Amino acid sequence: MKMQRKTRQRQLILDAIQARCDHPSAGEIYLDVRKIDSKISRGTVYRNLNVLVKQGKILHIKLPYKDRYEPIKQPHYHFRCSICGAIADVPLPYDKDLDDRTAKESGFIVESHRIIFEGFCIDCQRKKSITK
Ligand SMILES: [Zn+2]
Ligand SMILES: [Zn+2]
Repeated sequence: MKMQRKTRQRQLILDAIQARCDHPSAGEIYLDVRKIDSKISRGTVYRNLNVLVKQGKILHIKLPYKDRYEPIKQPHYHFRCSICGAIADVPLPYDKDLDDRTAKESGFIVESHRIIFEGFCIDCQRKKSITK
């Protein structure tokens, strides 16, 4: 019985992440899950996020100020807005060649690389009338 609740909670958390495409933070995921299961604790959500990352079901994007999560999909790059902190996917193909070149030059086994571009998102450009 106890096991079942655990599994259900984890599924709720996974569903909450999959329902959003804005790379939610742990706190935002907690608030979403709370709407469905009012008894779930912040600790349970945080613990399950770690489990889901270990199971390879979600991706943990480590950022300087805030950790974000998203469903696993094709490798891709991210953009972070320096003003509002929004995270978005970048429509640029993943450069597998960079992994191969790095492996060749270093002798390391390279599994992947991550890139986070930084600057101003479209909304913030409009609000602050920033031009390139
Ligand atoms: Zn912004
Ligand atoms: Zn992404």
